[in-house]
Amino acid sequence: MTNPTIMARNRESARTGGCAPDSVAGGVSVIGSTGSIGTQTLDVARALGIRVAALAANSNAPLLERQAREFRVPLVAARDAAAASKLAERLRDTGARVVSGDDGVREAAAASDAGTVVVAVSGGAGILPTIDAVEAGKRVALANKETLVCAGEYIMRLARERGAEILPVDSEHSAIFQCLRGNDIGSVRRLILTASGGPFRGMDADAIRDATPEMALRHPNWSMGDKITIDSATMMNKGFELIEAMRLFSLPSERIDVLVHPQSIVHSMVEYTDGAVAAQLGTPDMRLPIQYALTYPERLPSLAARLDLPAAGALTFEAPDTDTFPALTLARKAAELGGTACAVLNGSNDAAVRMFLQKKITFGMIPVIVGAALDGAEIKRDPSIRDIISAYGDADAFAERMCL
Ligand code: NDP
Ligand code: MG
Repeated sequence: MTNPTIMARNRESARTGGCAPDSVAGGVSVIGSTGSIGTQTLDVARALGIRVAALAANSNAPLLERQAREFRVPLVAARDAAAASKLAERLRDTGARVVSGDDGVREAAAASDAGTVVVAVSGGAGILPTIDAVEAGKRVALANKETLVCAGEYIMRLARERGAEILPVDSEHSAIFQCLRGNDIGSVRRLILTASGGPFRGMDADAIRDATPEMALRHPNWSMGDKITIDSATMMNKGFELIEAMRLFSLPSERIDVLVHPQSIVHSMVEYTDGAVAAQLGTPDMRLPIQYALTYPERLPSLAARLDLPAAGALTFEAPDTDTFPALTLARKAAELGGTACAVLNGSNDAAVRMFLQKKITFGMIPVIVGAALDGAEIKRDPSIRDIISAYGDADAFAERMCL
């Protein structure tokens, strides 16, 4: 794949939709194309010669312009109106249609002729484009966690009704999805999500209470956006992943365990009723699960480095320390409460992390604020999508007020 002739040929076919694998012959829309997952999705598209039918982001017009030109994209959405008008001006010579606002982002998710939509937006903004893509019968390669955490039951039910495929991009869920192939979910005893433990693994609560954003952003293994890197440091990311796994694989929280695995080589495991444990291993590189979600059921060479097990050394596992990292317990509590509780968990955590990154609260306050939001919120049963989105927004506002 690093052969320059092959790379040049693939670059050309990405423009023409030439030799993409059958599974993505219809091309992709990338929602959140300028972020960490979005740019890595385009790395995969470039390497495999996948046509890009639409792009969407919030406000990064310069990068959207470069991406639109490179992939000759006919539909480009910038949520921010000023960015969209700048982009429309700069892309005039290309004939690309530029749309704006939340509606523009939703149009990029549902209205392009792509067969696959990658939802790599951050935050609650991923929920509606995902619903649109499912309604439009697209294959959804889903990176956005908030969609499954807040609205997972709704989305999975909708996908079943519409016969739409939702394929996980998150590495743990991709690992479980791969381990489940060829087996019935009825023969699963439990799922085992692995966690790196983040930069504060092994420390006690007193030592990390006043940790700075700079310290929390130093993830030992993965290179990701700031928000999810802080969630890894608090382990709320693993709490979210537990809820994601419940929704994707229709299992209760007590059948999903978390193990800290500092090397991030085993991406997750499935234990079957007979005691056999299947694991998926690989280097910590998001281009692998992104590519699998795009090319499934095909497997193709990837840009990710190959796993060298002797060089990786010992692979170790330990139980998570829920005294130091109470986020996992909060996520289990929200999952048990059901209804809008997971949206409250997610919304309040988003605000707390934002305030921490702005240095308005300490690291130790993040779970305290989320816990207070969960205790204080009125949980709605059988919520509509409108109820879920407003519970998420209200919890964000509640948590932000607590931080000020
Ligand atoms: P980033 O912050 O790096 O990127 C976010 C992207 O979303 C950017 O393109 C941004 O545009 C766009 N965006 C933000 N808000 C809006 C909006 N309202 N409308 C349209 N576009 C918007 O995030 P990541 O790539 O790290 O994460 C994306 C999602 O994937 C998150 O839900 C995260 O939890 C999940 N995820 C990420 C992983 C990772 O390795 N990074 C791993 C597993 C899951 P702009 O640049 O213009 O602001
Ligand atoms: Mg993950």
